[in-house]
Amino acid sequence: MSYRLLNQSRLSDDTAAELVEFALAHSPTIKKTIAIKLLDGEFPSGHAGPGSIRKWAGRAAHFVTTSVPGDDWDILGAARVCWHATPLRQYAAGHSVADAYQWIETTVAEGATHIGRWPIYRTHTVEEAVVHTLAHELMHVLAFDRGRGKQSELLCEEHALRVLTVYQGSAVTA
Ligand SMILES: [Zn+2]
Repeated sequence: MSYRLLNQSRLSDDTAAELVEFALAHSPTIKKTIAIKLLDGEFPSGHAGPGSIRKWAGRAAHFVTTSVPGDDWDILGAARVCWHATPLRQYAAGHSVADAYQWIETTVAEGATHIGRWPIYRTHTVEEAVVHTLAHELMHVLAFDRGRGKQSELLCEEHALRVLTVYQGSAVTA
């Protein structure tokens, strides 16, 4: 496997490469090439797909984009805490959007580890959030790489949380 990194975020190129290599080293092996783009964003988010649909991916078989969130990003008042959009959408289908937000806010404030089956992840740094998003997107790429359809979002989230936990345990704090 090889990858090409386009760092358009405020992270240094060295830091960006370090995070990408960590996520790759802790994810299942992807056979074909990946083009990975890091860019600044408000919240953690990412996309993955066939390289052919993104010009910047060049001849890479797959592409991944990952946002580098703001230093103090927060969603619903919980600093640097995140979860997948799916449980919110599922809940909102039977309730008002305001109720759905309130429900999530209460769940997070109570220190829950999951929303239904979906893990809630807590990060301390922007780098941790980037590793989480990269690991999530790499699981999508793995499914494309093996000729399967779209990877389950829940499997991606569970993998990303495992990688984040390893990263949090291994990060050297100066
Ligand atoms: Zn996903």
